[in-house]
Amino acid sequence: MASDQVTTAAPRNGAFLWPDAPAPEQYEVCVHCGFCLEVCPTYQEWRDENHSPRGRVFLIQAAAEGRLSLDAAVVDPVFTCLDCRACESVCPSGVPVGHLIEAARGQVYHADPPRGWRGALARLFLRGLFPHPRRLGVVRALLRLWQRFGLQCLAQRLGLLRLLPPHLRALAVALPEVTARPARLSLPERLPAAGPRKGRVALFTGCVMDVLFTPVHEATVRVAQRHGLEVVVPRDQVCCGALQVHAGDRPQAQALARRNITVFAESGVDYIAVNAAGCGAMLKEYPELFRGDPAWHARAQAFAQRVRDIAELLAEVGTEPPRGRVPQRATYHDACHLCHAQGVRVQPRQLLRSVPGLELVEMPDAERCCGSAGVYNLTHPEMAQTLLTRKLDDLPPGVEMVITGNPGCILQLRAGLAQRGQRIAVRHTVEVLDAAYQQEEEQA
Ligand code: SF4
Ligand code: SF4
Repeated sequence: MASDQVTTAAPRNGAFLWPDAPAPEQYEVCVHCGFCLEVCPTYQEWRDENHSPRGRVFLIQAAAEGRLSLDAAVVDPVFTCLDCRACESVCPSGVPVGHLIEAARGQVYHADPPRGWRGALARLFLRGLFPHPRRLGVVRALLRLWQRFGLQCLAQRLGLLRLLPPHLRALAVALPEVTARPARLSLPERLPAAGPRKGRVALFTGCVMDVLFTPVHEATVRVAQRHGLEVVVPRDQVCCGALQVHAGDRPQAQALARRNITVFAESGVDYIAVNAAGCGAMLKEYPELFRGDPAWHARAQAFAQRVRDIAELLAEVGTEPPRGRVPQRATYHDACHLCHAQGVRVQPRQLLRSVPGLELVEMPDAERCCGSAGVYNLTHPEMAQTLLTRKLDDLPPGVEMVITGNPGCILQLRAGLAQRGQRIAVRHTVEVLDAAYQQEEEQA
């Protein structure tokens, strides 16, 4: 399902000639104070103003006003950005740096579409694979063959994995066990609430999330049902479009957004529950994709108002503390798109602190990016590895588990821990909560 239809926002002058350009009201409010510099991971590493939030906003404005052309001087800083949004959390003017970066990438996508093998790979994944649940099913089947028939172990023993670059090798080893079917198809279309019904919620299953993390979806549903939520799992939903937006392919992201908005509008739910921080941020920001299209903008706003991260949703409907124990020393890593993009920081910690036996210790700078950042760990492996090393160095002594709310972070952290030979588990917040409730039921 692909569409090249773009929104009807008027083209801007300067180097931004295509619709959906960075909005002047977003970059003009930057007062160049520099408060954002010290929280920006790329600025922290390179100490180069061009690779800071303030520098990137300045370059985008200069390109929009025709003072710079859309060449490497602008394009490189726009693409070295992790889109982690840490800068937005400290910006006194409310500059939406992430939106500006994403819109600027959209202009680059039109001006200089990805070519060669990189372009072919980008098209294969962003247009040929992620938007198509059936094709993702083929990938799932191949991954299962790889894992279940010992091919992965054999490849490791024969040293074939050493042919991969180190970061890909680490990610290949960190892949979780793939289940037979995606939650989108294996779960019933409607699951009743346990006890008095507090609301009706649709589960957003996503693309990669539902290939690699189906058990997290199952845990999400069990915990939601337990707290009085009737759950529906719309069969026709598709990928959220976040990876496409990050790559600049806004037409494809808009096509996916239209499909999801339509499908979830038909489901008649009070909430749309998301357990992947990157997807949740994207779904909440669908209106931004339709700035130039009033009809779809209004529909996107109605859709976005119902989107909740699962931790946010549970805090909203109220939870009963589990009685089962998870006796482990653990730390919580804030996924960028949960804390900076969605402002969800307190709720996961509150939920985790309610778990008997779980000793939750804070790590320094828990909100700093782990280097995953969508596909940044594939496109910029050196910076991603630097950030991963810093993150793992910051783990408090003696922790047995790292907990977070985003599949990309889970994979990245597992890959880094495997590289170091550290036996520390990495779990999703809702998995930990579910484990405590499961234990409670076993004891009853
Ligand atoms: S983006 Fe925000 S924090 Fe950074 S320089 Fe501009 S106004 Fe200041
Ligand atoms: S989104 Fe992250 S990497 Fe990009 S400018 Fe902001 S802080 Fe820096």
